Amino acid sequence: MPEDSTKTPARDPLDRSPPTRAEGLARLEAFLPGAGRAYAEGRNTDPGPEAPSAVSKLSPYLRHRLLTEEEVLSATLARHAPKAAEKFIQEVFWRSYFKGWLEMRPSVWQGYLATRDAAWDQVQTQSGLRRAWEEACLGETGIDCFDAWARELAATGYLHNHARMWFASIWIFTLRLPWALGADFFLRHLLDGDPASNTLGWRWVAGLQTPGKTYLATARNIRKFTNERFHPKHQLAAEALPVPGPENPPPMAAPDSDPLAPGRRAVLLLHEDDLSPGWLLEASFAPLATGVLDATGRLSHLAPAPHVPAFKAAAMEDALARHGAALGPVTRGLTSAEEITAWAREAGAEEIVTSYAPVGPSADILRGIEGLPLRRPLRGYDARAWPHATKGFFKFKDRIPGLLGALKGISPV
Ligand SMILES: Cc1cc2nc3c(=O)[nH]c(=O)nc-3n(C[C@H](O)[C@H](O)[C@H](O)COP(=O)(O)OP(=O)(O)OC[C@H]3O[C@@H](n4cnc5c(N)ncnc54)[C@H](O)[C@@H]3O)c2cc1C
Repeated sequence: MPEDSTKTPARDPLDRSPPTRAEGLARLEAFLPGAGRAYAEGRNTDPGPEAPSAVSKLSPYLRHRLLTEEEVLSATLARHAPKAAEKFIQEVFWRSYFKGWLEMRPSVWQGYLATRDAAWDQVQTQSGLRRAWEEACLGETGIDCFDAWARELAATGYLHNHARMWFASIWIFTLRLPWALGADFFLRHLLDGDPASNTLGWRWVAGLQTPGKTYLATARNIRKFTNERFHPKHQLAAEALPVPGPENPPPMAAPDSDPLAPGRRAVLLLHEDDLSPGWLLEASFAPLATGVLDATGRLSHLAPAPHVPAFKAAAMEDALARHGAALGPVTRGLTSAEEITAWAREAGAEEIVTSYAPVGPSADILRGIEGLPLRRPLRGYDARAWPHATKGFFKFKDRIPGLLGALKGISPV
């Protein structure tokens, strides 16, 4: 009997996506031949969790920088002409664009947290809303595609981009649930859960990111791009009015990089936003000791799905194992600015060095560090790309050829 393609067979999310750089590299290698035409033609189709798909599934590795954008882009350009792999290259730059956009508008992240908290209060006090939210999270709404995606996300830690768009659209416009609770649901389950791509992806669907422009999921589009696995005819909202919200703030200046200061007694702080610290260590930086920041407690009011902290913890261990000898004694599980400062002082440090943490839970914790200088070198890739995220992606896109040109000569991670 053929398998029911709407069911997600039980298999641990970390078996599907082992949290190592070696797995990221293997995925990249396997994907590269299809980064050209196959990706451009097939990327919009979500064939289901068990079927081969045209997309790379590199996001958990890129999100934690087990692989970097520049590595993925350089490897792509080594196999394809920029024009042939244009679509894939653009998608990788969407990540960089969103990070830069949020970096220059940190109040949008704080706004998300405040909107989520207010919605969370409502869920606790309004029984109707609570029921609807629970049904959506458990995949019990009666809308087959939506329910299957909720279960797929919980079981695998991943959803195809098109499924994320449909899911968010149905959450907001059909189920009429607060968008920030949907973003929170994603952050608690996605292996690639990312403050910038997730918050701005949900805001984009809701009509907050590009003011007035919403994304409406339709039964026809879902049918076509799920290979007819789903057809939610007459089940979806027919219109999508923008969610009200404040205007986007004007961009602040993009951050500067703090250069390393040889000769200073310093410790290295690793965090989930950059698990390839080789670029710092190769710049003749020899830390007295290394600490590992655990920011998962800041993700949500609710506990994340077990695979989320498990992926991050194992990815950290992978980074530590790759650089063992250069790191000095390692302290794991630092969760607050106070713990970090106490640990650094204990190690005899004059300063703490950490790869620049973009807007999100890690940066929120680091902001609280007092009494010891925090040195935050910024990768050259981010320093070049982020300042161009001043307006929409289409303006940013014009900068891609120049950003690709600058990839040459970048030292390995
Ligand atoms: C509502 C919503 C929420 C999202 N939340 C997240 C999130 O928390 N974390 C996350 O990494 N992505 C998020 N995305 C973006 C996108 O869906 C995923 O990056 C992509 O599906 C990952 O699968 P892939 O690696 O196979 O992508 P591919 O299609 O193979 O693309 C290659 C890489 O390009 C980048 N990329 C592709 N599409 C996008 C995009 N739309 N925005 C930003 N970067 C992109 C990713 O790094 C991805 O790994 C979200 C999108 C939506 C609509």
